[in-house]
Amino acid sequence: MADRKPNADKHIVLTSHPTSGRKPLAINWGAPDPLLRGPVIGSTTEHRNVIGAHSGSYALYRALAVAAGRLKSDHVPDLTNTAPADLIGPHPQWSDPMKIVSMDPWGHMTTEVFAGLIAKGYDIRPTVAVTRAHINMPELRDAMAAGRLRSDNLILSPAGDARVTKVAIEPVWWLPGIARRFAIDEAALRRNLFEHTGRMFPELVTRPDLKVFLPPIGGATVYIFGEPTKLGDRRYPLACRVHDECNGSDVFGSDICTCRPYLAHGIELCIETAQAGGVGVVVYNRKEGRALGEVTKFLVYNARKRQEGGDRADQYFRRTECVAGVQDMRFQELMPDVLHWLGIARIDRMASMSDMKHDALVGSGIEIVDRVPIPDELIPADARVEMDAKVAAGYFNKGVRPADSELTVAKGRALSE
Ligand SMILES: [Zn+2]
Repeated sequence: MADRKPNADKHIVLTSHPTSGRKPLAINWGAPDPLLRGPVIGSTTEHRNVIGAHSGSYALYRALAVAAGRLKSDHVPDLTNTAPADLIGPHPQWSDPMKIVSMDPWGHMTTEVFAGLIAKGYDIRPTVAVTRAHINMPELRDAMAAGRLRSDNLILSPAGDARVTKVAIEPVWWLPGIARRFAIDEAALRRNLFEHTGRMFPELVTRPDLKVFLPPIGGATVYIFGEPTKLGDRRYPLACRVHDECNGSDVFGSDICTCRPYLAHGIELCIETAQAGGVGVVVYNRKEGRALGEVTKFLVYNARKRQEGGDRADQYFRRTECVAGVQDMRFQELMPDVLHWLGIARIDRMASMSDMKHDALVGSGIEIVDRVPIPDELIPADARVEMDAKVAAGYFNKGVRPADSELTVAKGRALSE
């Protein structure tokens, strides 16, 4: 058997003390000049100035690859030709530390704005990447067949390929801002993050000077329909769907919930608005099963189906609470950050009936003109329990108008602006 000696480090670095005599580069969150703001350095070098590591939970696979001898521990990425395929920002919101606390607004521009530091040997990695693609979903072709969507040979091809700019975002938490968002004490936040990650990140409690944390969680992907340069420009109507991951429904078309139909309906709205001269944005957040995870979610499915009387709307949230202790852990408080990053101040057509999402967006200063409910015929029969439970719980009832008149009204507005 080949000798597979682990790629061990020369020494173990204690996290309770700075790693060298030099102070790390400061991060002045919200500073309008990126050089004054300072780079987020999460690579495992002496220049580190954050807690945690790049790539969220995938950092664990990187560790495994290094341990297995398949990746050099000092590998530095070659970022030639990786710059954003479309320009996003800078927007005024980037320098408002109240607006963005859970991602690095300069995360896609690191190779450009920190070029000088990178040339000096700083390993500064992007936390955001922007590329272009086409997507194709059977629902879009259905919408074309039903006459709701049409090809314009630009945003939507005759074959149903929709042109998108897509953006991948890793979370970057500025801890003082996260604490303020939840109206809690920063020390209490840091202590709980430390304890409930199995004490994985000691610097949360030993290094109060480090204010930025790269949490080991999933981030978000943004799909933009139409010209990204129109984002943040109030002259153009904007459609938006903020979608929380549901792998079973979104990818596999699994029954019991309405997630994929909602997603597809949101995309349809985005394409329609982009074709009418506006722009559409779908934000896909990795918050599986209301951020409780898929194991919890499947346990709840069993509990719902096996209870006396079968799956019932009046027990829908109760069963989740029995297993998880709470009904929901998605924390929409952080959700608006990505929209602020895109420069969005007004959503003309919001493809969501969730009051939690609505209130979080409006509370953060984003105006919502219309909320567009999903048409009844797009709701699978098996998902009725979920819909009835949400209606009974008052999930969505503010300013939502009947399904069929909504599209017509909103479309008229988009075309007239
Ligand atoms: Zn679902």
